[in-house]
Amino acid sequence: MADAPIDVPAAAAELEGASAVDILRWASQRLAPKLTFATGFGAEGCVIIDLIAKHHLPIDLFTLDTGVLFPETYALWRRLEDTYGVTIRPVRPALSIDAQAATLGPALWTRDPDRCCDLRKVKPLRQALTGFDAWITAIRREQTPERATARVVEHDQKFGLLKINPLVRWSHDDVWAHIYANDVPYNELHDQGFPSIGCQPCTSAVAPGEDARAGRWRGAGKKECGLHVIQPPSRDEAR
Ligand code: SF4
Repeated sequence: MADAPIDVPAAAAELEGASAVDILRWASQRLAPKLTFATGFGAEGCVIIDLIAKHHLPIDLFTLDTGVLFPETYALWRRLEDTYGVTIRPVRPALSIDAQAATLGPALWTRDPDRCCDLRKVKPLRQALTGFDAWITAIRREQTPERATARVVEHDQKFGLLKINPLVRWSHDDVWAHIYANDVPYNELHDQGFPSIGCQPCTSAVAPGEDARAGRWRGAGKKECGLHVIQPPSRDEAR
């Protein structure tokens, strides 16, 4: 942890109105090099990579490579690295897709998506965060009811470190205005009816008027992969 302990409720209150760059700068000054950004290559993640790279912030970058991302996502990964001259480390599950199929049967995501997400996302993320004091995420409050109470700085009870959310106040339009104004690379599937993109087997296009995340685990009654468990702020945190 950084020299002086961070007063999380005070920091969240102080940074509530700050720009995303100022939040990232604040976090890197206090927490680097034990600060990392886990990107899933969504539009928001591309914005954060743009800000980190352009402002030369010393923040580690990684992604959870489940082995079943879309080809377009793998292409975007390379494009971001080339555009910004950064390295986005792959973090992979213990089992390859073939090994998982041999052990637990094929297409686990169709039978038990929670278990599949636990093996291919949650456990690797927990391992990847070991040794870091804080991680940055790209969540926004308006994305889901569960995310509506997210703070700029909060304790991540699930993974046991600080969580920095520089885009919590951003709207969907804010994200896209930044992308277009700054020529930020983004996943071409966004132009083909995929507002939210995860693993290929669990992501489908959405129809006009549908919720942006309606194409994630469609029909499975699942809304999150288990990476972001947002808890209501405590009375202290909400002050
Ligand atoms: S999103 Fe689907 S394929 Fe990816 S880890 Fe979760 S259940 Fe498995």
